[in-house]
Amino acid sequence: MIIHLEELSGKIQTFTFEKRIRDFPVLEKISAAGDCLFAEPLDIRLGAKQMGEMVAVEGRVAATVRMNCNRCLIEFESVLRTGFTLTYIRRPPEEIEPAGDGDVELQAEKIGLIPFTAEQIDLLQDVQSEIVMAIPMRPICCETCKGLCPQCGVNLNETACNCENRTGDPRLAILKGLKIDHK
Ligand SMILES: [Zn+2]
Ligand SMILES: [Zn+2]
Repeated sequence: MIIHLEELSGKIQTFTFEKRIRDFPVLEKISAAGDCLFAEPLDIRLGAKQMGEMVAVEGRVAATVRMNCNRCLIEFESVLRTGFTLTYIRRPPEEIEPAGDGDVELQAEKIGLIPFTAEQIDLLQDVQSEIVMAIPMRPICCETCKGLCPQCGVNLNETACNCENRTGDPRLAILKGLKIDHK
């Protein structure tokens, strides 16, 4: 996913990429683990412009994914969307050699600038990180998902059950057993 500086100007140039999951090693790993399956291709739209020694990139990714609901465990499909801004700054190669004292790079990173040296910028790693960060830690199939009954395990979205304490929170059960002395 490479942008050549010669294609850029002070105005926003747009780039569209259709990527396979195997283009992103980390996403491929997440997919293989079954945590989040990506449908292909991934639709990636970028807008980039050059401002002196800096290149600003605005990105938008929409990907259809299949995940398992954290509450009812059912697999569901949803569209993962993320938008982000990446800012790159040109650095002479010697300043970002790993053997250097790292001051320049550290300072740049501190304010969110990503150094680059060549006449092109490869956005793959940074775009991949943005997609990984957009994957929900605890995906739910819908806001109103009732989850599973903690006692009999039925999917409460599909059926009701006759278990007592249907709220199922043991902390509430303890509170209900407390006698409050009104004086
Ligand atoms: Zn659910
Ligand atoms: Zn039940």
